Amino acid sequence: MEIMTARHALRAALALTGAVALTGTGCSAGVPHRGQGAALGASAAAAGPAPSPGAPGIGDPLMPLDGNGGYTVRRYTLDLDWRAPETPFPAGTTISATATQALSRFDLDFAGNTLHRVTVDGTPAAAVRDGDELVVTPARPIRRGSTFTVHVAYTADPTQRRRRSDAIREYGWVPTPDGTLICAQPDGAKMVFPVDDHPSLRAPVTFRITTPPGLGAVANGRLVDRVRRPDGRVRWTYDSEEPIAAQLVQMAIGRFAFVDSKGPHGLPVRDVVPDDLVTDTEADRSLTPQHLAWLEQRLGPYPFRRYGVLVGDTDLPVALETQSLSVVPKDDLLGDQVDAERNLVHELTHHWTGDSVAIRRWSDLWLSEGHARFYERLYSAEHGGVSMEDAMRAAYEQHDQWRHDDGAPAEPTEPTLFKVMRYDGSALVLYALREKVGDDTFDRIERTWVTRYRGRAAGTRDFVALASEVAGEDLTPFLTPWLYGPDTPPMPGHPDWHVDPVED
Ligand SMILES: [Zn+2]
Repeated sequence: MEIMTARHALRAALALTGAVALTGTGCSAGVPHRGQGAALGASAAAAGPAPSPGAPGIGDPLMPLDGNGGYTVRRYTLDLDWRAPETPFPAGTTISATATQALSRFDLDFAGNTLHRVTVDGTPAAAVRDGDELVVTPARPIRRGSTFTVHVAYTADPTQRRRRSDAIREYGWVPTPDGTLICAQPDGAKMVFPVDDHPSLRAPVTFRITTPPGLGAVANGRLVDRVRRPDGRVRWTYDSEEPIAAQLVQMAIGRFAFVDSKGPHGLPVRDVVPDDLVTDTEADRSLTPQHLAWLEQRLGPYPFRRYGVLVGDTDLPVALETQSLSVVPKDDLLGDQVDAERNLVHELTHHWTGDSVAIRRWSDLWLSEGHARFYERLYSAEHGGVSMEDAMRAAYEQHDQWRHDDGAPAEPTEPTLFKVMRYDGSALVLYALREKVGDDTFDRIERTWVTRYRGRAAGTRDFVALASEVAGEDLTPFLTPWLYGPDTPPMPGHPDWHVDPVED
């Protein structure tokens, strides 16, 4: 547990004691709360349960403290007063939320640098850090169903990064020569701002980023305005337009060119490219409209209002499907074109599966990564890459080994989450399904999946049920061993495929 200042410590201790007392007295000491209209008198308190603490997580078995209980976020507004690379800077986050229970206190996910001050509806609140949880105790309990506004002032530190055992890259803030970008997946958004951080939880975000003269800023969604202040600094305001999961937030600062083009049906496409990389990345970036058209043929309309590629001026392998603005590191675009297109199509596919259709729990990650890898390989096979059958046969031969090392596709453990089983190992499950039901039925399953769950979270059970419904047969007995079984089942239609024995 970390308490930032003695003043906060005292306030926290007082408020925590107070919260216990308030709970014990049924909240009768309450005063009118913004948005409630009436005083919290004894009769109001008697109408509902006594305020209690919101849960510190939503109970995802793999990452139990991700997300929080007791409220839903309506909007985030981020104020970031950027200074220079590797330099901490002033930041503020305003969260508008609705209480889903009577709250004596609630948590935010926050691992940022230095916490200064927390208010709830304008009144100072106690705030205590417990690992990556920021425990906020408002001066007065919050009634169930009421809206409230939390403001957190802090210092953001763009040198903060983390490394996971299951990923080849660091995540969190990613430094660039003259700025930064964000790679928050899986749970690094809390290094950037206090947040309700789970892939199934989404809210719209307003970004207000102030930069020194000469630097640009970009974030998910639409550039709302750009205002030069009297001191020469420029404030860039972006609106995510759609609700967004914390892991898909992007925000980058640097010397950028904004390169505009059009996708299918006039879709606005804006690439954001470091000035000196515009020419060298143009050939690959110019393929985006073709990639969009190819995916729309298979998955239906692109689910967001704009798209673009943010070229990352970094050596870190950080390609990520940040919503409406995929980040792709420069090295992915400066080498072989077949590889470049695989990366570009992978992140773009995620906009249907992973961004628009979110995962319900981390164990559903195979649905996001498996689809992205499946269509990436399918596209590549048609555009100079390895044939789908060869790629999937190679995956099949190693599948038992992956099952042994990384868990079955829908049964990852926390340290094996982002391993190859969630990529080619899960694309193979979709390939097996296609071999089982045929191309036409498979295409209908896929289109129905991204249409029915557009803008919603869905899980493995939802996919199996939907596939069964579309195919007109119960696919549970077929898919369960593929997704959960100890051994890889035979591949339909390929009796000659074999599984290499597992090596310990
Ligand atoms: Zn991916």
